[in-house]
Amino acid sequence: MALHAKPIDQLVEALAKLPGIGRKTASRLTFHILRSSLSEAQALARAILDVKEKIRLCSICFNLTDEDPCQICKDERRNKGILCVVEGSNDLIAIENTGEFSGKYHVLHGTISPLEGIGPEDIKIKELMERLHQEKVGEVILATNPTVEGGATALYITDLIKPLGIKVSRIAYGIPMGGEIEYSDGMTLSKALEGRREV
Ligand SMILES: [Zn+2]
Repeated sequence: MALHAKPIDQLVEALAKLPGIGRKTASRLTFHILRSSLSEAQALARAILDVKEKIRLCSICFNLTDEDPCQICKDERRNKGILCVVEGSNDLIAIENTGEFSGKYHVLHGTISPLEGIGPEDIKIKELMERLHQEKVGEVILATNPTVEGGATALYITDLIKPLGIKVSRIAYGIPMGGEIEYSDGMTLSKALEGRREV
């Protein structure tokens, strides 16, 4: 039973596919967009297309970027000798927002998860090892989430890095078990970085 005109149903349908958005919210958003001005609606549509068309992965650290290399990799003032390994770009942003870390990053884009069929070759581990062979890195901080997968991934990477004689540490202090870096407040995160332990 079609209650609304087709374009309305289509937008509700599309919005309802987004994570955390149920049909009720999708419908509320749709009517909000209907009430907004044409230029506001165009800006929203353009912003959605822009992230798809302009954002890609940095060829060095694999952060999401609209320029390659990304701003962080290009920044000469940052400490090239220390590399912080994170699961995703959101974690990078959270750590960056603490203002406590001035080294470089490496974004894995996931964790090893045998249950979901995600192996080491499915995330950017090979690329990390290539960097460690090419760049002069003295320390790697493993800032994966304190989850089973995050821990397993950190352990796997530690075993690969140790033979290279590079110091490996893992953030531990302050982040609750099962917690997520992305949602940790700045204070907790800076403490976690500060209290990293060599592994
Ligand atoms: Zn980069």
